[in-house]
Amino acid sequence: MTDITVTNWAGNITYAAKALHRPHSLPELRALVADSERLRVLGSGHSFNEIAEPGAEGVLLSLADLPPELDVDTAARTVRVGGGVRYAQLARQVHARGLALANMASLPHISVAGSVATGTHGSGAGNGPLASSVREVELVTADGSTVTVRRGEERFGGAVTSLGALGVVTALALDLEPAYEVEQHVFTELPLEGLDAGAFEAVMTAAYSVSLFTDWRAPGFRQVWLKRRTDQPLPDCPYATPATEKMHPVPGMPAVNCTEQFGVPGPWHERLPHFRAEFTPSSGAELQSEYLMPRRHALDALRALDGIREVLAPVLQTCEIRLVAADDQWLSPSYGRDTVAAHFTWIEDSAAVLPVVRRLEQALAPFEARPHWGKVFTTPAAQLRALYPRLDDFRRLAETLDPAGKFRNAFVREVLTAAQ
Ligand SMILES: Cc1cc2nc3c(=O)[nH]c(=O)nc-3n(C[C@H](O)[C@H](O)[C@H](O)COP(=O)(O)OP(=O)(O)OC[C@H]3O[C@@H](n4cnc5c(N)ncnc54)[C@H](O)[C@@H]3O)c2cc1C
Repeated sequence: MTDITVTNWAGNITYAAKALHRPHSLPELRALVADSERLRVLGSGHSFNEIAEPGAEGVLLSLADLPPELDVDTAARTVRVGGGVRYAQLARQVHARGLALANMASLPHISVAGSVATGTHGSGAGNGPLASSVREVELVTADGSTVTVRRGEERFGGAVTSLGALGVVTALALDLEPAYEVEQHVFTELPLEGLDAGAFEAVMTAAYSVSLFTDWRAPGFRQVWLKRRTDQPLPDCPYATPATEKMHPVPGMPAVNCTEQFGVPGPWHERLPHFRAEFTPSSGAELQSEYLMPRRHALDALRALDGIREVLAPVLQTCEIRLVAADDQWLSPSYGRDTVAAHFTWIEDSAAVLPVVRRLEQALAPFEARPHWGKVFTTPAAQLRALYPRLDDFRRLAETLDPAGKFRNAFVREVLTAAQ
């Protein structure tokens, strides 16, 4: 047991907890779980809110000292990965065996278990969130016993994007595919005015993964990033201008932190994330929010953002627009709907940012905007009920696996009070 102050990656949250435990073995972990009254797992701490916080009477558990389990089955094209492993480690091992994940988030620094717990996603009209790759989840539940939930079981729908509320995820099995190469083509200055639904769709489906970036200081988008699989056709973006220098999504930040551009092909895991594993991702001094909406609302939602440009711009470092394919995790922000995601990297000033977040949520409310579970949001629990039709099913699953609420912190209780 260690009595230390633990903060998240961004430094805006200091977790309230009576202790941090770092078990070295599974038996030690099981005993800790069985003996604790309230407990939450900390992944790599890249969330921007209190989702991982156990509360002053609770225990924070880090899996970082467990042996890093990473077991690739080349023939079956699957990997079993331990609950503390990060995408950067996973991707290197998988690639070395000639295999690949379908997609990655903007950075490889995050833990797999923590990412799929919050519905973390990359981009691409045909790519679901990262949880779509999960075929099996192994949990140590409240009494210290192990439960394995597999794709195909009814309760699997609640088991992966679970906000850490069902137990300690000690392992996940993921689908893999043959390794592939990706190249990035960056364009600049895509106008919003005059962009009709057809043109927007054409841009957003021009490559395997597409991101638009803007700081909203002027109308339209400053950058368009097209990530092409080299086994797919060459992309074009006739509505924008090819970049003449390497770019970082945050204006003024060094492009050296970013993965290779200018169409240089490279392994999937060194191109799908925007940021290199060995550098600080994003700006490093920031808060983030993100809202996921049905894709059919995309252009109207972008026009709504353009309408509050002058509110957003003073506290914004960059805004990123991505597509995510629908998935079937009950608490996934992409559950049941092909999605457009509007992400915001804010300045590192909660007092200035929070009123803007509230204003932004008002502007996006007509578009059924579901907030990213791992980022800053103020959407009231009552509104979440309307946004998540399977919330009651999730609450029942949580109460079955964890009757006394050992893994239900204030964040999760707030979400579940929206369910009856
Ligand atoms: C610079 C930056 C870029 C980002 N880019 C993206 C992006 O491209 N797309 C996107 O969707 N999001 C993005 N995010 C958000 C990030 O992916 C999520 O916050 C994600 O949850 C981070 O994973 P983590 O391991 O740090 O989770 P943590 O913040 O540590 O934990 C998140 C939740 O998972 C639970 N948890 C973690 N591990 C376990 C476990 N083993 N068992 C049970 N519960 C567990 C925690 O209790 C908590 O509830 C970004 C964040 C940052 C800082």
